[in-house]
Amino acid sequence: STKIERHLYDVVVIGAGGAGLRAAIEARMAGKRTAIISKSLFGKAHTVMAEGGAAAAMGNVNSNDNWMVHFRDTMRGGKFLNNFRMAELHAKEAPERIWELETYGALFDRTKDGKISQRNFGGHEYPRLAHVGDRTGLELIRTLQQKIVSLQQEDFAETGSYDSRIRVFQETTITELLLDGDRVAGAFGYYRESGEFVLFEAPAVVLATGGVGRSYKVTSNSWEYTGDGHALALRAGATLINMEFLQFHPTGMVWPPSVKGILVTESVRGDGGVLRNSEGKRFMFDYVPDVFRKQYAETEEEADRWYTDADNNRRPPELLPRDEVARAINSEVKAGRGSPAGGVFLDIASRMPAEQIIRRLPSMHHQFKELADVDITKEPMEVGPTCHYVMGGVEVEPDTAAALGTVQGLFAAGEVSGGMHGSNRLGGNSLSDLLVFGKRAGEHAAAYVDALRVRPKPSKVDVASAVEVALAPLVREGGENPYTLQNDLQAVMGDLVGIIRREGELSDALKRLQELRVRVANVGAAGGRRYNPGWHLAIDLRNMLVVSECTAKAALEREESRGGHTREDFPKMSPEWRRVNLVCSLEESGEVLLERKPVPRMRDELFNLFDRSELAKYVTEEELAEVEAE
Ligand code: FAD
Repeated sequence: STKIERHLYDVVVIGAGGAGLRAAIEARMAGKRTAIISKSLFGKAHTVMAEGGAAAAMGNVNSNDNWMVHFRDTMRGGKFLNNFRMAELHAKEAPERIWELETYGALFDRTKDGKISQRNFGGHEYPRLAHVGDRTGLELIRTLQQKIVSLQQEDFAETGSYDSRIRVFQETTITELLLDGDRVAGAFGYYRESGEFVLFEAPAVVLATGGVGRSYKVTSNSWEYTGDGHALALRAGATLINMEFLQFHPTGMVWPPSVKGILVTESVRGDGGVLRNSEGKRFMFDYVPDVFRKQYAETEEEADRWYTDADNNRRPPELLPRDEVARAINSEVKAGRGSPAGGVFLDIASRMPAEQIIRRLPSMHHQFKELADVDITKEPMEVGPTCHYVMGGVEVEPDTAAALGTVQGLFAAGEVSGGMHGSNRLGGNSLSDLLVFGKRAGEHAAAYVDALRVRPKPSKVDVASAVEVALAPLVREGGENPYTLQNDLQAVMGDLVGIIRREGELSDALKRLQELRVRVANVGAAGGRRYNPGWHLAIDLRNMLVVSECTAKAALEREESRGGHTREDFPKMSPEWRRVNLVCSLEESGEVLLERKPVPRMRDELFNLFDRSELAKYVTEEELAEVEAE
């Protein structure tokens, strides 16, 4: 029989980005034996790539800021489809989570009077992003890792072993969650290098696996983002919510082709960069939608004054939420006013002295020089939309981060969870989300373990079946090439379920996904189990496929345009659809079941943070009539 290494833990955290590390710290501090598992090298997660910063209403740069303003901005950004309770907790707790990072050793950039500095970002009314140059995510991960090391040293002093209470398993991929009845009993996976199998027995699992971008052709996401956590949750009986909402970041690199999709941080625009078409026009002024008209400048003069006097001027339209900017770029390119490589121009060179650009945006300067041989202090960048972030994800109980559905003992935090960002996430709200809900997930996973009377056990049959599924691509004769299958999947999603969607194309996509499902069931990988990326991809494909099916089904069902979901055939936002969440689960047969579920009703005191006239743009008259004025 196949050799399987076994480990016993209280809490297993899958994913070593910000959400996973913060959850693991909390679980360990609650006294739980905790494992952190990551598919890539420890320290290499999307969190590291986050450049702009973490949004928290500390009010350091503009004292008018507070949690209520942040809450309002988040709800507006998500077009009111956000889970209000998550948005509320996030806005209230983010400042504390940022402060806490400094106690772990983080050092954010400072204002002149020594407070944590905050920068402007799309959709945020005040400067709100705590940052470290344009390398904020790196500092976040660095300090969370440092905190883990310090906990390990405490454990060493007490027990003689660094790993006694918290241990990191890097380059280890989880392929299956194991259940005992409806309760989580563990996680099964393999070491990428040796191909050997490993079983973690644990009554609580925190999913912190990040996004799904690798199902798209043009994406800012790296290789490991194949929606594993989303798929693991589904197969364990949890539900996914609002998978139709994907964020296409407006500014990815478009040239050279080998780097197409790599992110150009929004900080370029936050710091003064502007978008121009091939005629040199700052076109964003033509794309301010009605719901945002009051908050955005109408002339270039006003927009430019805003950078130095935000209290007396309205913000530039380049800083509209990402979905608006991405659609605008798409339209300009379609209308024939694009750049040579099929994007538009992002110009910081003419707006700021070279030394200031290099100081504020060092990574961007380096990235363009290295990858495209463009000096951004002298020339404009060419940019276009790239698949960046999934708003949809595991449906969770807001306060505890516990997954809904039939499963118990499963928690989810960070990008893999859904609800918090509604139909569109504001930049900077992810890093804060990871910290707020990572902590909550760790805390509640620990509490769940404490309350258990009997420890669930994985069954031999389930372990054997996990082994069989993992090995299948290696033993299959004449199976299909995993890379071909991934390309075909990316083409379906990119071409038919992309930024602008239509009924016919979505139906077509679903048909093709069905065909792909048959082909993926027959995927084969050459070679053996030692470091074999083809085999790894073959295993990931079924995750990418089921998650893509959820996205395509939900995109076909939602007959409106909102945030990260644009239907050409239903171009308007509909107040009726605002009341609907689309929830996916898996049937016994393996089919994706899509159901409509009402969006939880926001408490009156939160409704009353908005003007009635603004609310009227989003909610039905009936809903508005029910709100008791204060
Ligand atoms: P991640 O940091 O994505 O980590 C996921 C972890 O899960 C990884 O360790 C991975 O190896 C592991 N994993 C996945 N599958 C498995 C598996 N099957 N088994 C074991 N481990 C697994 N947000 C902001 O708020 N501000 C920004 O400025 C910003 N800039 C960004 C720039 C870029 C280029 C990108 C790509 C994203 C950016 N974002 C930003 C978004 C933000 O970085 C991510 O949404 C966030 O970091 C996700 O964190 P996470 O902890 O949920 O997961």
